[in-house]
Amino acid sequence: MSHILVSNQQNIGIVGAGIMGRLLAWRLMQSGHKVTLFDKDPIEQGNAAAYTAAGMLTPFAEIESAELLIFQMGMRSLQLWPEWLKMFNAEVGFYQKGSLVISHAQDKADLLRFNQQLNYKLAQDEQVKVRLVEEMERPRQISHDELFELEPEVASRFHEATWLPQEAWLCTKCVMKTLAERLLEEGASWYAHKAIEQLGENFVQFGRQRLEFDRVIDCRGLGARETVKGLRGVRGELLLLEAPDVNISRLVRLMHPRYRLYLVPKGRDNLYTIGATQIESDDMGPLTVRSALELLTAAYSLHPGFSEARIVESKTNCRPALSNNLPQVRKSNGVLQINGLYRHGFLLAPAIAEEVCRYIDQGDDAKSAFESLFQFESFQENFV
Ligand SMILES: Cc1cc2nc3c(=O)[nH]c(=O)nc-3n(C[C@H](O)[C@H](O)[C@H](O)COP(=O)(O)OP(=O)(O)OC[C@H]3O[C@@H](n4cnc5c(N)ncnc54)[C@H](O)[C@@H]3O)c2cc1C
Repeated sequence: MSHILVSNQQNIGIVGAGIMGRLLAWRLMQSGHKVTLFDKDPIEQGNAAAYTAAGMLTPFAEIESAELLIFQMGMRSLQLWPEWLKMFNAEVGFYQKGSLVISHAQDKADLLRFNQQLNYKLAQDEQVKVRLVEEMERPRQISHDELFELEPEVASRFHEATWLPQEAWLCTKCVMKTLAERLLEEGASWYAHKAIEQLGENFVQFGRQRLEFDRVIDCRGLGARETVKGLRGVRGELLLLEAPDVNISRLVRLMHPRYRLYLVPKGRDNLYTIGATQIESDDMGPLTVRSALELLTAAYSLHPGFSEARIVESKTNCRPALSNNLPQVRKSNGVLQINGLYRHGFLLAPAIAEEVCRYIDQGDDAKSAFESLFQFESFQENFV
């Protein structure tokens, strides 16, 4: 990453300090801009979807249900995360150990379909085709013996799997905390406990106070529903389990007829996240009995050791999604709106931050590697 200060150093207001707001603020500061953050919640905690997320960075597994853009931006983020985490100079749990996709016998057709989609979509991505041949270990179906080598306790109930060696996950709480610390250390201003409803191209207003900026960026996630057309919430529930009788070290996805269930090892204290439901609703209420039954049944069907596990926490939140479930950067009355990160906020935020920062540094002459991200004309004319 370039650390050269840009000639058009700007004073930028970012409203919403979830994962997108924080990461973008940090990236812009690396480019020499001055940043002020606003959030309705305290700095240390809150209701951002980012605090509920499981932290999976799984572009290959997402291919089944997502556009190629998500895969391509996800691959870029997968490169950026370890580089940027190193620059944060802090202990942030980042695990690039790969993931396994499995199914019970009755859901085998879903696994076959997953493999077909994976092969079909990977064949469409020229860059990845080259990297798969030249440098990256390929995603592939593996035998029972190979599964046993990777995860013996998964192999006791499952006979085959699809192995996605590049995939990773991170500790979302650690990332949110570390980003806040770095931003404050590096001189960002932060207005916490400020619910912002009035913002414009060059100002942010709360109560009688009005702050002026060269540019304002709206990263409020679902909090921007009034101004971002078509934005909706997609409910997700997950459970944190403490399971001393389970010893699984990789991310596992279980094909399930209603949603793809995943198990994410926390890397400490025998803790595992199991999630997540995906329900078309913006209900933020507590976990339902039906969802708890589904998640726990899935966990038990994956490994009998979950029968004695403790339920440490249940979490619910809503993912901010646009009608096509893709992220978008728009302009509304001069305000740059970044929204629609849906189920991919951690997977996509570095790639989006990089693209938006380039746009801010270079203006309408900027070129983007992900052209459809930007939904405004002046920029689209310059697409590569
Ligand atoms: C159950 C679940 C599991 C998930 N798992 C993953 C995963 O494994 N991997 C992955 O990549 N993604 C995952 N996600 C998705 C991810 O959490 C979201 O895509 C991401 O958090 C969206 O980022 P954001 O910054 O746009 O919004 P948020 O993280 O929600 O942040 C928005 C911020 O804006 C603030 N705000 C809102 N309104 C106002 C206002 N009026 N004034 C001031 N501030 C305001 C909020 O307080 C918040 O801090 C998951 C989501 C859920 C619900």
